[in-house]
Amino acid sequence: MSTTPAVSARQAWRQLMRAGARVSGGPTLPTRQQPQHQLRQCQAAFARQASSLAASTSRRATARFSSSSSSSSSSVLRQPLARRTYSSGPKPPPRTSGNQQIKFWPFLIVIAMGSGGYMLLVSRRKDMPPNADSKAGSDATPAFSPDDVTVLFVLGGPGAGKGTQCARLVRDYGFTHLSAGDLLRAEQERPGSQYGQLIKDCIRNGEIVPMEVTIALLENAMRATLDKTADKKARFLIDGFPRKMDQALKFEEVVCPAKLVLFYDCPEAVMEGRLLERGKTSGRADDNAESIRKRFRTFVETSMPVVRHYEAEGRVVKVDATPPPDHVYSDTREKLRKALGDKF
Ligand code: UDP
Ligand code: MG
Repeated sequence: MSTTPAVSARQAWRQLMRAGARVSGGPTLPTRQQPQHQLRQCQAAFARQASSLAASTSRRATARFSSSSSSSSSSVLRQPLARRTYSSGPKPPPRTSGNQQIKFWPFLIVIAMGSGGYMLLVSRRKDMPPNADSKAGSDATPAFSPDDVTVLFVLGGPGAGKGTQCARLVRDYGFTHLSAGDLLRAEQERPGSQYGQLIKDCIRNGEIVPMEVTIALLENAMRATLDKTADKKARFLIDGFPRKMDQALKFEEVVCPAKLVLFYDCPEAVMEGRLLERGKTSGRADDNAESIRKRFRTFVETSMPVVRHYEAEGRVVKVDATPPPDHVYSDTREKLRKALGDKF
């Protein structure tokens, strides 16, 4: 009776040895060669271990574990699941550079937005015509005093006859005639001028040359005239300028306030006829049908607001420029006498 268990044990040992299982040393691994009951024992043990681990980890970890709890799950068990995937394991080394990037980005964005906004403000202010406030606040003094220098702006559409009337006023009253268009054409032809091409393009397209160029040319010409006089006094007819509000305000702010505006009013159809006639001999790049059309548009859209601005201030002397030149001239003299006195 007492040997039976020993025989059974020996038989079991042999069976195990035959099956190639290791009795001592390492963990018993469930293999296909193991006897069926041992395999079941191992699987039960694995299942117990699995359920205790699963209880201490998340549902997802449990699902992963269960799905791999066959033969290949042994290595998974030897290496605790949570250590590989979850925070209970050793923490990974800190990613210093990544953390720094995340901390610095908001500052960089704030600095970039601030700088961009500032540059936008500066560039917009540069294009803005100075308003009454900025003029009052600025310490810019005009280059010439109206006590020494008299300025009359002469305005009117292209072909209204400004040049013709100015020549007569020069002859009879000693004005100095400065045509903005003539000054620009001279600058365009001056060898080495950095504005030559720009002026050429603007004139052909009936567009207005940037005011800095025109104002600088006018101021230089005025200074050259004054330098030649003994008493440093002079009277100027500034013809074809200002053609835009910003030019008007800037000129009066930095060069000299104007006494009044002489405005030659003329219908487009009359002006067009004169310009096409003049174009036969003038050699001007803008005395052609296409340029004339563009010049009319610029005059209506951009230059007429200047006339209206001065009209609202009561500084405009308006003359009908439709009749022949002599008629227009006598009308001009009469109106200027009324505005400036007999000895203007
Ligand atoms: N121009 C300009 N700014 C001025 C005056 C003239 O840009 O203050 C340019 C503009 O392209 C204009 C051209 O010069 O169309 C010719 O001007 P001008 O006064 O000679 O023409 P007008 O009006 O006498 O026909
Ligand atoms: Mg002219």
